[in-house]
Amino acid sequence: MLFDTHMHCDYSCDSHMQLADAIAAAKEAQIGMTVTEHWDYDYPTNPDAFTFDIDDYFSRLQPLCNDKVLIGIEIGMQTHTAAADKKIAQSHVFDYVLGSIHCIGRRDLYEPECYAGRTRQQIVEEFLGDSITCLEQDRDFDAFAHIDYICRYWPYTGAERELRLEDAPELFDKLFNLLIAKEKPIEINTRRLDDAAAVAGLLPLYKRYRQLGGKYCTLGSDAHYKEHVGRRLNEALSLAQACDLTPVYFVGRQMKIMEVDK
Ligand SMILES: [Zn+2]
Ligand SMILES: [Zn+2]
Repeated sequence: MLFDTHMHCDYSCDSHMQLADAIAAAKEAQIGMTVTEHWDYDYPTNPDAFTFDIDDYFSRLQPLCNDKVLIGIEIGMQTHTAAADKKIAQSHVFDYVLGSIHCIGRRDLYEPECYAGRTRQQIVEEFLGDSITCLEQDRDFDAFAHIDYICRYWPYTGAERELRLEDAPELFDKLFNLLIAKEKPIEINTRRLDDAAAVAGLLPLYKRYRQLGGKYCTLGSDAHYKEHVGRRLNEALSLAQACDLTPVYFVGRQMKIMEVDK
């Protein structure tokens, strides 16, 4: 069964989907699902925007959980939040902890000001540098989310729109090698897979991760609306197959191979 391992419901302030709607949508699509509410400690634009009452989240979602409905959290990592992030990851018995980069240098990648006064090269190096620093820290997470999150929001277009290995080959290798050494799968986020240029841009990144020894990926829609649960999982699966990555999901923080019809 395919698993959509990344989605946001009632406890993420930017979501427009209720837990019950997400569960119904996954059932309808005949897929498994993991809810991954946002936890971003010390968010630059609003320190409390992406935190929530985790006890309440557990008490509401856990009774609805089964082998196809799993409880996770997406932790937004920043270089100064490692200790706090680890504490949250270990505060409850999650099925899955997804590690993300939403901010660099205490700036929100979503905001245009994040990029002001800097060259694209500086931004790429800062993004990879902060990601590497986070991965070198003492943390507790299961997979690395949406490497192309930055491409959703940065101002560059055309050939500059996608991350390219040649922008910073050594930094990409360092990032991938850290993930591989820590046995962390890389997420294939389906948000941008309707864009042929995005797919073409992602392909060499995932292939490089594989070439360096990475074996596993997760598949996640990052849904914030019920219509988006399970969106483009088949495209993600094709991308995984093209890169020879094995799709996995997590139950009780243990990796499981996704059983996929070939
Ligand atoms: Zn995210
Ligand atoms: Zn997300």
